[in-house]
Amino acid sequence: MSDPHATSPEDVDLSRFDAIVDVRPQAQTRPHLPESTFTPLERLLEDPAASLPSTSARVLVVCDIGMRSAIAARELAELGYQSVTSLDGGIDAWRRHGLPLAGTDSLTPNELERFDRQIKIPDIGSTGQSKLRSASVTVIGAGGLGSPVISYLAGAGIGTLRIVDPDVVELSNLQRQPIYALSDLGRPKVAAAADSVAATTTQTATEIVQGSFDSSSAADLIEGSTVVVDATDSFQARYDLSDATRKAEVPLVTGAVYRWEGQITTLVPNGACYRCIFPSPPESAARLDCALVGAVGPVVGTIGTLQATEVIRISAGLAPAYAGRLLMYDGAVGTFSSVSVQARPDCVCQRP
Ligand SMILES: [Zn+2]
Repeated sequence: MSDPHATSPEDVDLSRFDAIVDVRPQAQTRPHLPESTFTPLERLLEDPAASLPSTSARVLVVCDIGMRSAIAARELAELGYQSVTSLDGGIDAWRRHGLPLAGTDSLTPNELERFDRQIKIPDIGSTGQSKLRSASVTVIGAGGLGSPVISYLAGAGIGTLRIVDPDVVELSNLQRQPIYALSDLGRPKVAAAADSVAATTTQTATEIVQGSFDSSSAADLIEGSTVVVDATDSFQARYDLSDATRKAEVPLVTGAVYRWEGQITTLVPNGACYRCIFPSPPESAARLDCALVGAVGPVVGTIGTLQATEVIRISAGLAPAYAGRLLMYDGAVGTFSSVSVQARPDCVCQRP
């Protein structure tokens, strides 16, 4: 049954319309028809005069699949708008016909398909996806935390991943480092990690550094980074990373795990540094060395996965979830809890 107010994409001549109104929520952040204006359906029906030139104007209404826009066309007709047309099949059909879309920031058809599920999220959209593609993320440590970080960031379309780790793959790593296989034993972790990225995607370039992170190499290793990920297991590395990222004014997403417990926080340039939270290494500094105390694989994976989520947010231009807050996870009793963290006035990071 054909809808008298609907027209299919191949019959639409955009130049024939006085206004093209996209009624999807936050449509401006997603691929849309050229020359569109944006008014969510509810708001359009509440006050059509605010978005439409006149009751006689020729208006094309658009949504994802043509359902919201069909409602808009019918209701507007009842309100006296004489020439409102719904795009049948919506943006989905428009794209299937290969017709031009704006707001894609030149994402390729392959990227639009590959990242479809996150582009559909309104606050990511094609704009956020383009930002992910432009992002350069440095991951310090390609172990248990680094595994999910590297895997999910490659999956999300981060443009460049710089991976830093001094070690080779050992048998005891495979319990909690799922990006490695038996065939990787004895290989440098950074090389095996880059291969795992290359096996999944052509959209992410890797830069690998087989070496340790310390205060002398810090500035070079994080140069040009959008975000840095602390996926190390040493307290000294955490301090060095915190100092270096603060100086470079780059956010640092830091994670740590001890047996069944893990924690994550994001250190932003104007907030607390790692020394504000831990002024000196706790007596239990050795707690963070999993070679000595052990770590449950999926607990490490949980924290690494939270770190990946946070990096995606920051790289897409969204507010970090863990700035000013330390989230703690206890896998033994199944609880998440968090405490707020603030810069300490007596910390070295607060000295001019
Ligand atoms: Zn501080």
